[in-house]
Amino acid sequence: MEERKRRIKSVIFIIWLLTVPPGFVWLAVNGTYDLPSLTEFVSVTLLSMAAVSFPVIRNGIPLLLVGWLTIPMFFGHGLFVEAAIMQLALLAAIPLNRNAPDPVHRFFFNSLMFFLLSLLSAGAFRLAGGEVGAAGLYTLLLPAAAYMAVHAAGNTVLLHAYQLISGVRLPIWSQINQQDALTALAVFPLALANYYLFHAVGHWSLPLLAVPFFTVTLLIRMYDASERVNTILLETVSLGHKLSGKLTQPEVLDLFAERVATLLPVDYLYIFDIRNGRIEPLKMMEEGEFVDIRLEKSAPEEGIGGMIYGSEKGRMFGSQSEWSIYANDYYPPEAESLIGVHIVRNKKVEGILGVMSKRKNAYEEYQLRILELLGSYLAVALDKARHVQQTVKESERCGLTGLYNYRYMERALRQNVERVNSGELVQLSVIMLDIDHFKQINDAYGHQAGNEVLVGFARLFEAMAEPEWILARYGGEEFVAILPETSKDRAVRRAEEIRRVTGDHPFLVHPDGQEGVEVGVTVSIGISSAPDDGEDAMSVIRNADRALYTGAKREGRNKVAAYSG
Ligand code: GH3
Ligand code: MG
Ligand code: MG
Repeated sequence: MEERKRRIKSVIFIIWLLTVPPGFVWLAVNGTYDLPSLTEFVSVTLLSMAAVSFPVIRNGIPLLLVGWLTIPMFFGHGLFVEAAIMQLALLAAIPLNRNAPDPVHRFFFNSLMFFLLSLLSAGAFRLAGGEVGAAGLYTLLLPAAAYMAVHAAGNTVLLHAYQLISGVRLPIWSQINQQDALTALAVFPLALANYYLFHAVGHWSLPLLAVPFFTVTLLIRMYDASERVNTILLETVSLGHKLSGKLTQPEVLDLFAERVATLLPVDYLYIFDIRNGRIEPLKMMEEGEFVDIRLEKSAPEEGIGGMIYGSEKGRMFGSQSEWSIYANDYYPPEAESLIGVHIVRNKKVEGILGVMSKRKNAYEEYQLRILELLGSYLAVALDKARHVQQTVKESERCGLTGLYNYRYMERALRQNVERVNSGELVQLSVIMLDIDHFKQINDAYGHQAGNEVLVGFARLFEAMAEPEWILARYGGEEFVAILPETSKDRAVRRAEEIRRVTGDHPFLVHPDGQEGVEVGVTVSIGISSAPDDGEDAMSVIRNADRALYTGAKREGRNKVAAYSG
């Protein structure tokens, strides 16, 4: 992609080199023109530079209205003079665009575009019977209209062609046609007015038109800026609402990362969590793609994140040189502008949110405020998602052992028996397990020690289970495992192993006020299977329970028994 961009840039430059400089030489030698006075040339050129450097901005997109200054130069002095002034004005835009990724390439692109447009429009003017230096209103009107129309249409066509040939998508695409029409509409009468006024009052025509023109430009820019802030603010609030509707952390982070890039100019986005004194990445996005960069887990005071963390509030930087001294680890080499804010929850900094742009000075003060607002929405949404997940976990799990609880097991068994009945699974088995003489452990070592045995057994049970088994604490010292796609024979063999290993396992307990003591326990196990021993969850469970009591407990405990009809 980068390689392709570089190639397109070289091609543009070569076409420019073969077109614009020779074109000017040709125009200077062969063109018909009539040089303006030095005062006129200098004042029009300076005003054109100002018009290019300080354009009307609509929806954040600049409208080039410089034509009201340059086109009358064509009417009065010819193509060579007009094209020269236009090129000088574009040159003035290089320092203005210095924040953009590649202002020099932009110059060559615009220079070539406007040179071609000047040629095409001048041709249209001639074809429509226009004559350079003519003064009559009616003689000029038609050729001038032809000039304008070709200028506007030419811009659209050339940009379309450029996009088609180069494959480069112009970001402002949808607005270009409309923009060209608007530009022509504003420029055409202004250019004529300028031309005639010059004939009527000489040089005074320039301030007479320039003062209202630049005043209106300023007003539109101010209005556009405030409207843009309002729009972004509304969108920020709406994102806040949407975030609070997401119930898991990944959903919150995905939505957030995707949408922030539409609210601010963002090439890189990083969300860090601060937990147990460490900064850890939660989500990272680079040039629109989620990325997973292995970062050294660093202490909160280290690195760029650490610098933001250590600041009293959010920070904003215009270029890489301002923040690179803080970087101790990875950073994207092309990044320039940076905003970093705190993610604050309950008055505590719980995370860091950072955005970067490849442009220099890409951010304004209000965007720092917007990001702070976004940070607080993110904090609330993450907090809520964590609570919901915690609640779900608590409602499914046994608080002591961390295994699934009875309610969860019952639902899981129903679903799995359903799968057997529908043919999705061939079979399943259920292991029901009860610790023998558990009461005696409570009596001998205390209830707390009994709990330690239960937790210890849960861990042992997990270690012996296969990944697809569903393990639950069924009640007091009773446990159940659902074994999807396991035959009764295989379940019996696995249960036998569990029984043997458990009997040999020392459980470390801490009776009140004493050193650790090792105790041993045995287990009795009952097994039933679906579809053989029942066609619904309840009968499968009931039959495992029967096997446990009649086949294992009653036969002397520390035994495995399978249900049989
Ligand atoms: P059997 O071999 O017949 O199963 O004998 P047992 O003593 O294991 O069975 P019984 O059902 O008589 O006693 C179970 C004991 O388990 C009674 C109860 O106090 C204890 N118990 C149940 N839940 C817990 C618990 O969460 N923690 C502790 N420490 N003990 C519990
Ligand atoms: Mg028991
Ligand atoms: Mg029991």
